[in-house]
Amino acid sequence: MPRPIQAHIDLSALQHNLHLARRATSARIMAVIKANAYGHGLLRVAEALKAADGFALLDINDAVRLREAGYRQTILLLEGFFTPDDIPLLAEYDLACVIHNAQQIAMLDAYPRRGSLQVWLKVNSGMNRLGFAPQEVPAVMEQLKAHPAVRDITLMTHFSHADETSGVAAQLEVFNALSAPYRVARSLANSAALLRYPATHADWVRPGIMLYGASPFAETSAQQLGLQPVMTLHSEIISVRELKAGDYIGYGGQFRAETTMRVGVVACGYADGYPRHAQTGTPVLVQGQRTRMLGRVSMDMLTVDLSAMPTAAVGNRVTLWGDGLPVEEVAHAAGTISYELLCALTARVPVYS
Ligand SMILES: *Cc1c(COP(=O)(O)O)cnc(C)c1O
Repeated sequence: MPRPIQAHIDLSALQHNLHLARRATSARIMAVIKANAYGHGLLRVAEALKAADGFALLDINDAVRLREAGYRQTILLLEGFFTPDDIPLLAEYDLACVIHNAQQIAMLDAYPRRGSLQVWLKVNSGMNRLGFAPQEVPAVMEQLKAHPAVRDITLMTHFSHADETSGVAAQLEVFNALSAPYRVARSLANSAALLRYPATHADWVRPGIMLYGASPFAETSAQQLGLQPVMTLHSEIISVRELKAGDYIGYGGQFRAETTMRVGVVACGYADGYPRHAQTGTPVLVQGQRTRMLGRVSMDMLTVDLSAMPTAAVGNRVTLWGDGLPVEEVAHAAGTISYELLCALTARVPVYS
């Protein structure tokens, strides 16, 4: 038997979350499946989300795999191409690509095949990560419209604050002003903007995290939004012991028992992707009942408090996050966000659906 840790992917929850996105917008939906579909498995997720109008990811090899698996939707490379060698593949597999800098346009100039590429021109409306400055857009648009290799142009931008109260207003205004002169498709919204700012929906929305059933907002839970968690990380208790007052647990003796306690050791550690920075008190479910993690997370194990669970025993099921325990809560206790926990699941954890 392998170690008891496994991640379950609930395909019907994925579909439920896609339907929820559909009900929230009339825009086309580009399902974001970068980072191995936020750790959920690229092809598994694409199959469950095959009703999406497009898929967005980063790796050209993954994009080719999707095409070869038979998906006919728009497939968008969110960082575009990195070398001129990638460009013929874009044409051959009809992959749309983001163009975000002048170096990429220069590489395109060397590619002669006419009308073969769908381009998403990325504009920096305030995030200051990728994209052309608003004042560069008129010249770049003229260049791309006149470019023999370019078939179709979509204008896009990405929000830096859509999940916070400061919102999207400033970036939306910049983008609307610069895109107004052009009759091209437009795309702005991530999950947070899709859920909260209908004025950003335009022609294509690009939800990621909400499809996986986690909330993009710190103050609103996934359940309040009607989202269903997709990944449940679960394992088992592999050892139970009693501690006396004054005993310590694990590396560094970070947790000290104040009274007699019952504790369980769970087969899950940071080498599985559980956050090492999770603190004592991070929620965990044992047989569906909520308790807390104790002390420091080790590479392959962590310890939980069973003092209120006198019948808990070796072999009991432990939920680290997912069904009954929102991944956002675990992320919060570890000083991070759900995105990081989901996509940090490591290759040694078997994933099934
Ligand atoms: C990752 C990403 C998204 C999806 O963001 P979520 O917050 O997961 O919805 C959308 N657009 C771009 C450009 C991205 O990189």
